[in-house]
Amino acid sequence: MIKEVSNNIYQCEIPLPENPLKILNSYMIIDKNEALIIDTGFNHPASKEVFFRCVETLGINLRKTRVLITHLHADHSGLTYDLYQRGCEILMSEGDGNATLNLLKESTWRKLKEQMKSYGIDVENDFFDEHPGKKYAPAGDFPFTKVKEGGILEIGPYRLKVISVPGHTPDMINLYDEKYQIYFSADHVLASITPNIGYWGPEHPGVLKQYIDSLNKILPLRVNEMYPSHRVIIKDHKKRIHELKKHHRRRLNEVKSIILQGTVEMTIEEIAAGMSWKIPFDSWKDFPPAQKAFALGEAMSHVEYLIENKEIRHWSHIDDVLVKQESE
Ligand SMILES: [Zn+2]
Repeated sequence: MIKEVSNNIYQCEIPLPENPLKILNSYMIIDKNEALIIDTGFNHPASKEVFFRCVETLGINLRKTRVLITHLHADHSGLTYDLYQRGCEILMSEGDGNATLNLLKESTWRKLKEQMKSYGIDVENDFFDEHPGKKYAPAGDFPFTKVKEGGILEIGPYRLKVISVPGHTPDMINLYDEKYQIYFSADHVLASITPNIGYWGPEHPGVLKQYIDSLNKILPLRVNEMYPSHRVIIKDHKKRIHELKKHHRRRLNEVKSIILQGTVEMTIEEIAAGMSWKIPFDSWKDFPPAQKAFALGEAMSHVEYLIENKEIRHWSHIDDVLVKQESE
């Protein structure tokens, strides 16, 4: 459950019940009576119990602890309110910090429901009540200290530089120690699973391009070990980044061929339904609503990329409908 992955850096496996990700790796870095914790797990009794048992086992004084949350997702940010209540300082990027607080408001979920409906998805009234982002979100508001690209967090011998890597979420951050060549990759680079790249609405255009740019940004760094938020430690980050880029290239080709073989007008849902998914359901109509939402976001971000890069000519999209223009 607790493993020392580097001198005074502990990886704690926090269970994520009923979630395919299974476990969140929380990293706890300690120095004398000071500590820096990276990510927390869900606000769920099972996550909470293990998280605080790790804190106790490592003898961490929460009144002298900073907690860095890499991004807004509840498996990373779930216990921020509890930790703030116990005296920790919470650190987040401005964008994802504000988004985490927004997700505590009922109005944000109403807006998301409208967005789903605009995709033609039949959203039951209580649909989002079972969404982990709502169900296991922090228990209340908390103030946070903003961190941004280039900022340095010092703890013991480590000087962790904040690296901005938008893509998986609009303002996700990673941490990098140049001297020790260790890198905390959050959900930006994962070993055996591909991070979900979705669609965040028209106010966040070009998500997939941003993600790929963020992969390219960290590719040249000298990294001995990469510590991700899920699954195993990555030894060869360059190899993994190339694999992730290849995965999206294959996905782009798949979406492109669906569009080119399709009719002159297609919805994003028709495109998503034609893509291949590693989900144990025979047909698109059997997908549970939350899985449909993820799939639609993924389809949309790939369609947007193809249009932006002029890989599909004469096509444009208005909301969720992709239309082929009359060619003259
Ligand atoms: Zn995430």
